[in-house]
Amino acid sequence: MLKNDQLDQWDRENFFHPSTHLAEFARGEAPQRIVTGGSGCHIEDRDGNRLLDAFAGLYCVNVGYGRPEIADAIAAQARELAYYHAYVGHGTEAAITLAKMVLDRAPDHMSKVYFGLSGSDANETNIKLVWYYNNIRGLPQKKKIISRWRGYHGSGLMTGSLTGLHLFHQKFDLPLAQVLHTEAPYYYRRADVNQTEEQFVAHCVAELEALIEREGADTIGAFIGEPALGTGGLVPPPAGYWAAIQEVLAKHDILLIADEVVTGFGRLGSMMGSDHYGLKPDIITIAKGLTSAYAPLSGSIVSDKVWKVLEQGTDENGPIGHGWTYSAHPIGAAAGVANLKLIDELNLVQNAGEVGAYFKKALTEAVGDHAHVGEVRGEGLLCAVEFVKDRDDRVFFDASEKVGARLAGELVKEGVISRAMPQGDILGFAPPFCMTREEADEVATKLGKVVKTVL
Ligand code: PLP
Repeated sequence: MLKNDQLDQWDRENFFHPSTHLAEFARGEAPQRIVTGGSGCHIEDRDGNRLLDAFAGLYCVNVGYGRPEIADAIAAQARELAYYHAYVGHGTEAAITLAKMVLDRAPDHMSKVYFGLSGSDANETNIKLVWYYNNIRGLPQKKKIISRWRGYHGSGLMTGSLTGLHLFHQKFDLPLAQVLHTEAPYYYRRADVNQTEEQFVAHCVAELEALIEREGADTIGAFIGEPALGTGGLVPPPAGYWAAIQEVLAKHDILLIADEVVTGFGRLGSMMGSDHYGLKPDIITIAKGLTSAYAPLSGSIVSDKVWKVLEQGTDENGPIGHGWTYSAHPIGAAAGVANLKLIDELNLVQNAGEVGAYFKKALTEAVGDHAHVGEVRGEGLLCAVEFVKDRDDRVFFDASEKVGARLAGELVKEGVISRAMPQGDILGFAPPFCMTREEADEVATKLGKVVKTVL
């Protein structure tokens, strides 16, 4: 074991942390936490703290920490066959079994699953599939992709472009030219004070139609969206949003990609977010909850309609020129099989729905009346509290006040991890699905205390 001082020094000297203020970290001014263990909803750190992780890592450790069933499956797979590739028809029992399990849980019209490693690379795959699909159909102009402001789809070149958050574009020369952004389905923040949800949905639809009109439907290949917005604020869609959007897309022959990296496999209290909100996507992105992050694995699930064209494409052009060395990695696949079994055995999707409803109520009781709480919202175990300067006139805090970060910082001192969402004064909660009502109460009570002292 390394001495603590040595570890701190090596961390600052050698380790390039993602999504971190690099200069502050190197100078020792930014938070540093070295995580050593976890069980259930809790993690432990090197300094002896035990914290209730109400964000499940990055909303991915859905079955909770320390599950021996998944660890054993990973170890057994590594001993038997740590790796073989999946190119030109090769496979492993773990990958084949997982593909079947994924399709059994996906909407009926879905046909096949391609496995990658991260949500970002799965979305890169999806965009390539849209381009390939339209080339094979003889529509080479139909390539632009529509995403929403505040959507999050990864941080690669294309996926960082799709992400509708300024932080992920600035100084990276993004978004790329093929990407268009449209209105966020964020009723609380984007609607006029007197606008009804129905009127706001009509506004979102009108914005989309105007964009399609401006660019030309014959240049647009797909629309990508999370069933409920994640990193952009944890926002369930306004009623009727998806039905109205899908009508427009169908009219213009634009594919729908449902990015279910966060919502897939139970977070909303339904197996898939697409089922939850009545989406009929052409492609679905899955990642985090596929393995509960016990190993990196993602997937692109394609519909019958898309699959038929992909098959036609290979008959005309030979093998599809797409694949990663680690596509369908056996260790990830073994983790996925064990994870999905555990979710079923422990009824965790149902628990996410039931404890999620209880948690939202507890948060509302704890802080809903506070003068600086604008909205408490959530669906299943995807909940958020949005803070405002003035709730009557819906005046938002200036970003420089860092309200979310200050609250999250105080909450962690109370032993609870939440997430200050980028852009805006929103505290996010997305705990493991095994959270109990007692743990939900603990988070809500501690938040109540912290809100009173900070605001
Ligand atoms: N899509 C969504 C909806 C996400 O929330 C994320 C990550 O948070 C991604 C894609 C990107 O996944 P990854 O970070 O595994 O590349």
